[in-house]
Amino acid sequence: MNMNRRDALKAGAVSVAAVAAASTLTGCTGGETGTAAAAGNTGTVLGKHKVVIIGGGFGGLTVANNLKKIDPSFDVAIIEKSDTFMACPVSNTYLGKLEGMDLGKFVFDYSQPVEKHGYAMLQSEVISIDRTAKTVTTAAGIVQYEILVLSPGIAYNYEGQFPTWTKAHAAAVQRACPPAMIPGSEHVALERQLMNMDDGDVIIAAPSGKFRCPPAPYERAAMIASYMKKEEINGKVIVLVPGEKFAKMGAFKESAKDLFGDKIVYMHHTAVTDVDLKSKTVHFTQKVPTGKKDNDGDMIMETVKKSHKYSVCNLIVNHKASPVVQMATLDTTADAFKKVKMNGCSFQTATDKDVYAVGDIVGHAIPPSGQTAVWAGKQCAAEIAHRLHGKPYTLPVKTTPVKAGNVCFSMVGDSPEEGIMVTHDFSWTGAVIKGKGHVPKAASGKYRSSNTAKALRDWYRGIMSDLFA
Ligand SMILES: Cc1cc2nc3c(=O)[nH]c(=O)nc-3n(C[C@H](O)[C@H](O)[C@H](O)COP(=O)(O)OP(=O)(O)OC[C@H]3O[C@@H](n4cnc5c(N)ncnc54)[C@H](O)[C@@H]3O)c2cc1C
Repeated sequence: MNMNRRDALKAGAVSVAAVAAASTLTGCTGGETGTAAAAGNTGTVLGKHKVVIIGGGFGGLTVANNLKKIDPSFDVAIIEKSDTFMACPVSNTYLGKLEGMDLGKFVFDYSQPVEKHGYAMLQSEVISIDRTAKTVTTAAGIVQYEILVLSPGIAYNYEGQFPTWTKAHAAAVQRACPPAMIPGSEHVALERQLMNMDDGDVIIAAPSGKFRCPPAPYERAAMIASYMKKEEINGKVIVLVPGEKFAKMGAFKESAKDLFGDKIVYMHHTAVTDVDLKSKTVHFTQKVPTGKKDNDGDMIMETVKKSHKYSVCNLIVNHKASPVVQMATLDTTADAFKKVKMNGCSFQTATDKDVYAVGDIVGHAIPPSGQTAVWAGKQCAAEIAHRLHGKPYTLPVKTTPVKAGNVCFSMVGDSPEEGIMVTHDFSWTGAVIKGKGHVPKAASGKYRSSNTAKALRDWYRGIMSDLFA
C-alpha cells in the first residue's frame, strides 16, 4: 500500500473540509433569510409570496431561476433547510480521488443566484403545510403562498426496508455505513473511511425500488475500485445487487472487467438483513439456482443466508419521497417510494391545482436525476408563468417527444479518465410523461470512452453554472 501518498491525501482532506465549512452562508440579502434566522418562532407570520418553492436543490432552484428569468416582477421565494448547496451528481469522482474533484467542487453558495435573480430565500426547515390556509410552517415562522412548488428530494426508508431494526440500530448503521445519497456530511464520512482503510473489502449494497440516480451505486463501485487500485489497497468491491439487472449494467460490467479484472464482484438477487457493526460484518440473503427446473422449465431458486466482512460499508438504503410530500397531504402512488400523482402531462399535482411538484418526487415515469429535475423545473416555471400572465399553456412534450431530455454520465475509470452514458427521450402518451433509455457505444465498439469522460466534466460545469453563475 502506498502510505506516503495516502497520508498526504488525508492531510489535504482536512483542509478542504475546513474550507467547505467556512464557506457556509451566514445570511442572504434580497429575501427573508435574516428575519427567519432571528425569528425562531413557528407562530410568526414571516410574509406572503405569490410562488413559494420548498427545496433549493436541482429542481427548486431551476423553477425559481427560470420564473425570474421569464418575468423579473414575479414574487418568488425559496424555503431551503440547508445553508449551503451540495451537488450529488459527479460526487463519486470525489470518492475516486479524480484530479481536481475535491469537496470544494461540489459546494455552492446560494447568495449568487439569490443576488442575480432577486427572489427571496428563507433558510429554515419546513415542518408542516396547510393547503386550506395556504401556509407553510417552518422552524422560523409561517410563510403564506398562492402557488406552492415542491422539490424536497428524497428520504431514506430504513423503517420500510428493515422493519425489525430499532431506531437506535438504524441510526448507528447510518452513521457507520453512510448511504451518501443525500447531499451533506455522509459523502465526507464515506470519503474519510476510504482514506483511512487498510487492506480489505468495500461492500456497496444497492437499493431496490425507485431511487435517485439509478447508476450511482455502480458508478461508485467503479470509482472506489479505481481508488483502491491507485492506492494499492488489496481487497475487492462487493456490490450487493437486489435484482437480475441494474442501470447501464452491460456498460458497467464491460468496463469493470476491462479495467479492474475481478476486483468488482457483483452479487445479484441479494438483500441485506443486518449489519454487525462490532465485527464489521454484513449479513444478507441471496437467491441462488438449485440446479433443478420446475414444470415450466424455469430454474428453481433457493434463498441462502450469507455474511461478509468489510473494511468499509456503503449501505445505500431504499429511498422514499421526502416527508414534505406527506405534510402536503397529496395523493401518491401505492409503491414504497410514494411518488406525487401528477395532473396528466403537467407539473401540477393531481390533488391541488395550486401545488406543483418537480425533481425526484414527481409521479412521471422519468428517471430521477439532476438533469431531469432541471428539465422539469424549466417546464414547471413556464407552466406557472403562463398561468400568472393569464395565458393558456401546453407543455411541449405533450405534442412532441423530447430527444435526450435526460443525459446521465458515469465515470468508470481514471488515468485515463473514461465514462459511459445513458440518454432518455421523453414522451407523453396520455397517462404520465415517460422516459425511454439508450446506452450508446463509442466508436471503439466499447461502451466507455475518454470523450464521454470529458463530456461528463463539461456537463457538470454547464449545469452548475446554469444554476449558480
Ligand atoms: C451519488 C449520486 C450521483 C448522482 N449523479 C447524478 C448525475 O450524474 N446526473 C444527474 O443528473 N443526477 C445525478 N444524481 C441525482 C440528483 O442528485 C438528484 O436526482 C437531484 O438532486 C434531484 O433534485 P431534487 O430537486 O428533487 O432534490 P435535491 O436536489 O436533493 O433538493 C432537495 C432540496 O430540498 C431541501 N429540503 C428537503 N426537505 C426540506 C424541508 N423540510 N425544509 C426545507 N428544505 C428541505 C433539501 O435540503 C435539498 O436542498 C446523483 C445522485 C447521487 C446521490
